[in-house]
Order: sequence, then structure tokens, then C-alpha cells
Amino acid sequence: MSGLYVHVPFCKSKCPYCDFYSGPFLNKADSYLEAVVGELALRRDELTEPVTTVYVGGGTPSLLTHGQLSRLIDGLRGGIDLSEVGEMTIEANPEDVTSEWTEAVKALGFNRVSIGVQSFDDDELRAVNRRHDAATAERAIGILRDGGIREISADLIYGLPLQTLESWKSSLRRLLDLRVPHFSAYSLSFEPGTRLYAMRQNGKVEEADETMVEWMYAALVAMAGEAGYEHYEISNFCLPGHRSRHNSSYWNLTPYLGLGPAAHSFDGITRSYNPANINEYVKCLSEGKLAVRIEEEEESDRFNDYVITALRTADGVDLGLLADRFSGELCRRFLSQADPLIADERLTASGGRLAISRSEVLRSDSIMREMMV
Ligand code: SF4
Repeated sequence: MSGLYVHVPFCKSKCPYCDFYSGPFLNKADSYLEAVVGELALRRDELTEPVTTVYVGGGTPSLLTHGQLSRLIDGLRGGIDLSEVGEMTIEANPEDVTSEWTEAVKALGFNRVSIGVQSFDDDELRAVNRRHDAATAERAIGILRDGGIREISADLIYGLPLQTLESWKSSLRRLLDLRVPHFSAYSLSFEPGTRLYAMRQNGKVEEADETMVEWMYAALVAMAGEAGYEHYEISNFCLPGHRSRHNSSYWNLTPYLGLGPAAHSFDGITRSYNPANINEYVKCLSEGKLAVRIEEEEESDRFNDYVITALRTADGVDLGLLADRFSGELCRRFLSQADPLIADERLTASGGRLAISRSEVLRSDSIMREMMV
């Protein structure tokens, strides 16, 4: 099995915290779509296993018109066999979700929508220039449900400007009460190059205190657990049976092909990526050339990448996969580092896997650091 990711790099405006590659250049959508379909034609042989998940993310894919989205999906279907796809996700911003949009994406084959809620507090949403309010986000979830989309995922952010522990708990409570099958919750990060980073440098915004962020995460884990959500990855939660199959494949060395500017790919061993520049991307493809670049990684880097991502998940590191894909020397070093952590019950070994013990999830960072080879 393998995954297909398409990066749609258009946004109406740039949220100050966002470091994904996107911008207000929707006027380039037509040449972009042509380039994506062209890229698939040049790279389809890289997909040596059937595609089982498709994820159209961004950016804001919900900004594409119905005609543009149809061109994209028809182009994908024309390029490769998507008959074995079981999960097909599109990302949307709440203000774009209407019953017509829901009907259109369903007709194109999407059965999962990931929606950027971020917070249910209007002041917090305004503080990070989100274009929607809490009521619009809640309405969007209702529209998706009424339109027959069962698999809905929502994103939340904690550590936002103006956010308190109480307001975070209340956003979380509102989301949990909506019983969306899946949600992701991320701590706000101040990435160099973003407007938020510059605002912090200029003293216009304050970063949430580290202890407060830890309390928020602890509240998240406790409340989601009490509400019956499975905490299956550090930032991801779902009702039983609703894990994201596409995202899970990123964590278990499943190959995936990423199309579009800034999209990353993985063939099972080597990682590659397209330039984060729509003009360069489109120009290359219009000349019939790929823009893709290879990530040069040592075996130990690849080993640590896998270990860190796998330890983020409740399933943990697959020791059989480790032995199959990496040298005996790295595996032996890893296992000897694991011994004391198993002995003091910070790691749990079971069924050929090694995972961070559920009671230690709040201390995951330091355990992951100890497990790098
Ligand atoms: S809408 Fe999403 S992708 Fe676009 S700028 Fe905001 S956070 Fe980034």
C-alpha cells in the first residue's frame, strides 16, 4: 500500500503562525493544476504499490472552485489507479464549507474532511487573524454531517495569544461534545520566518508560559481520554476505529508520493521534496522536467526519524520493521538503550513493539531524546 498527497498552496491570507508553504496566489491555479497532473505522469512509476489513501492538503484546498477540484481529481484518476483508495481526505477552512461544497467533494470521491477549527473562542481566533468565528466552525461540522461526510477531523491549537487554561478547556469541551470522530491538537509554535515570530521579537505578542502549555496538554490528554477518545499519536485523538489511515502511514514507513510545491515524498528508503516555490515548480513541469530534490540522509538519521515518529504513536516502534530496514548495529544500540527504560516502565514492550508507556506520555520528549542512536 502507498499514499498520495497533493499540496494545494493557496490561502486567502497568511495566518501569522503558519509556516506551511501557501499564499494568496489563486490566480495561478490553472497552471498549478496542469503542473500537478504533469508531475504525476512523470512520477507514477515511483508508486510501486497500490494507492490506498489520498490526502489533498495545503494551503486551503477548499478555495479551489468545483471545476478546479474536478480537474485535479480527474487528473489523478487519469494518471493512476485509485480503485483501492479507502480513505480520501480534503482539508477545508470552516468558512468555505457549504452544503453545495460538501455535495461536490463527496461526488468526487472524498469521504473525509479535515477542518481547521483552531479554537472555539472568537477573541483567540481574531488574535491569530483566522477568518472564521466559532459559530461558523460548529455550523461547518453540522453541514458536513448533514451532507453525509462521516469521517470529520478537526484541528485545534493550544498556547494561543489570549488563551487561558480555562478557555482552552472550554474549546476542547465544545469539540468533544460535538463527537467528531477525529481531532488533532497542536501547541502553537513560533517558527522563524512567520509573522508571529516577528511579533514576538517586537514584543507585540507573548509566548505562553512553558508550564501553562504543559498543563494545557495534560488537560487535553485527560479530557479526551474521559470522553472516550483514543490517544493514538502525541497530537492525534480519535473515537475507536477512526484513526487517520493516511497520517498513520507517515509514521510506519509506508511509501507516499507528494505532488505540488513543497510536497514531500518517501519511497520506503529515500525522502525527497519539491521546492517551496510555485513559480519554480510550474516552470519546471511546463518544460517537462521534475522539480524534485533528494534529501541526503545518513542511515542513522533515517533510523532516528523512524524511531521518533513511531514513539509518538501509541503503537510505538515495530521491532520487526526496524530489523528489516536498518543495520544490526543500529538496532542493537537502540535495544540496549531501551533496556533501562523498559526496566523502569517508561517504555512498554509488547507484541514485537516498543512504545512509550501510557502513564509517561506527558514526558514523551525526554524519552524520545534518550532513544535516539
Ligand atoms: S489557512 Fe491554514 S495553510 Fe493557510 S495560512 Fe492559515 S494556517 Fe496556513
